[in-house]
Amino acid sequence: MGIIQLILGKKFPFKFVYSDEYWMVDLGKHVFPIKKYRMIYEKLLAMGVKKENFLVPEPVSDDDLLLIHTPKYIKKLKTGTFSQAEIQTLELPYSEDLARFAWLYVGGTVLSAERALTDGLCVHIGGGFHHAFPDHGEGFCVLNDVAVALEKLNREGKIRKAMIVDCDLHQGNGTAAIFAKKDYVFTFSIHQMDIYPADKPASTMDVGLWSGDGDEKYLAALEENFPRLYRKFKPDLVFYIAGSDPLDDDQLGGLRLTKEGLEARDTIVIEGARRLRIPIAVVFAGGYSRDVQDSVAVHINTIKVAQRTARKFA
Ligand SMILES: [Zn+2]
Repeated sequence: MGIIQLILGKKFPFKFVYSDEYWMVDLGKHVFPIKKYRMIYEKLLAMGVKKENFLVPEPVSDDDLLLIHTPKYIKKLKTGTFSQAEIQTLELPYSEDLARFAWLYVGGTVLSAERALTDGLCVHIGGGFHHAFPDHGEGFCVLNDVAVALEKLNREGKIRKAMIVDCDLHQGNGTAAIFAKKDYVFTFSIHQMDIYPADKPASTMDVGLWSGDGDEKYLAALEENFPRLYRKFKPDLVFYIAGSDPLDDDQLGGLRLTKEGLEARDTIVIEGARRLRIPIAVVFAGGYSRDVQDSVAVHINTIKVAQRTARKFA
């Protein structure tokens, strides 16, 4: 049965978080396909998902950002006072719109975590900016949305333990550094070793793969750890960073996963969590296929897996 038949005629089993403002920031000619957010949204509408299933986020508050980020860095983002070197590290052109986009996507990720806790599952069509550190942004990541969301929920007493399952192609250096001394978060990252970031601070668990590795090695490594780690750590919430950049022929990477392989990855992570009734929030992170439609197709497949899973474990 195809996705269209699955969706039509039934109430959609979880909420999406999405803002039409996400894709409006002008990055110039940039490898980050910001329009993918809009494309995913439109695809879902075309498939029959009703508008009421999309929650629109508000920008996160400065107080919430300060749970993770330094006052100095927040001020720089508000005033645009960056050095050339800082902009080079961020790898994005600074603008007020970029800052607004960042505030908004952190708000979106916070909202998706809250909804995951109440509904069991939530998909943020955005977020996953795992290279952002407390005092600086890098690798297209301005603010660390997942870190802010987890710290906020933990302070509010809504979660005691959480796990980040980071399956973006790149190692989650920002989140690894942020949670290195915070035991309440288990950070798992499976990534390609011989690319950015050169310096990879230790996650709770890192799985390193190499250029040319494909479905077989990737899925074997995941299956070795999931659902085992879920059972062992017993998180109250999982954040799944579902980058599409491990796909074969990605412009920034050398892993060779197929779309089917990535869908199998999604099933291991999402179904593994829901089978144990652990709430899971999905964020989309990176993906740089030559044809943006390929990145979008991988993200849509992740949504299909989430949908199937939500129905199965409702
Ligand atoms: Zn990436």
